[in-house]
Amino acid sequence: ILDVHIAPYYSQGWHQRGAIIVMHDITNIRRLEKMRSEFVANVSHELKTPITSVKGFAETLLSGDVPDKETSDQFLRIIYDESERLNRLITDLLELSKIEKQAMPLQITDVNVNEIINNSTQTISKFARDKNITLHLPEIDEAVHVEADKDRLGQIVLNLVANAVNYTADNGAIFINVEERTSKVVISVRDTGMGIPAESLDRLFERFYRVDQARSRHSGGTGLGLAIVKHLVESHGGNIFVKSKEGIGSTFTVELPKTQD
Ligand code: ADP
Repeated sequence: ILDVHIAPYYSQGWHQRGAIIVMHDITNIRRLEKMRSEFVANVSHELKTPITSVKGFAETLLSGDVPDKETSDQFLRIIYDESERLNRLITDLLELSKIEKQAMPLQITDVNVNEIINNSTQTISKFARDKNITLHLPEIDEAVHVEADKDRLGQIVLNLVANAVNYTADNGAIFINVEERTSKVVISVRDTGMGIPAESLDRLFERFYRVDQARSRHSGGTGLGLAIVKHLVESHGGNIFVKSKEGIGSTFTVELPKTQD
């Protein structure tokens, strides 16, 4: 998109000799404006859905039309779950905005990657067990070190493993691997889950992008997890990649430089 200004050009008296044309390429500005308004629309929609549900069930309970305690408990459970979803959504949105504004400087220290993986997977292992999913941790004897923000790296691993559990059917498996190369550390999370269609791979790290809206909502997802992960990885000067085959599984690979500049 071009923003064009044309001004007549005079020289030696009043004869117009030509014109000066100034063109600004505003494609980027327009694109950013469009992304921002899409984001606001998305956030509004994401907030409205649980609020509508909370309001509707609370109204029904207040009207006194609920036949028995079992039904009213069921409605209260929905109200509770939807409030939890709102809470997660707002936490993730604030997190994302802090990372984007770089309002949260990284606390870089020397970090033992194996320890981070062990801690992060402990939180998830109960959910994996409930689905009879086997979690395979890295098979390495020596500690792998990287300069990183401990909490943020924990969050990266946690989000990826949580997704692997969420999008893998019962009795599946998840393999977490760490590899030390000359100048970088590579962490991968592979699952034997449902996989991701090829046409979705490019958009996966966008805010609120989901392959399957219903499934993501059902599993309590906010649609912001991977956007947060990508930002965190990049703020460490690293990269994230995904490979996936529908019906076979997905592998998310995070590469982090060993030392921070
Ligand atoms: P959500 O809260 O929906 O899980 P994410 O940003 O974490 O949001 O992920 C975005 C989408 O990417 C998910 O809705 C899901 O469709 C897809 N996805 C993420 N991880 C996996 C995975 N391991 N296997 C299959 N699909 C995945």
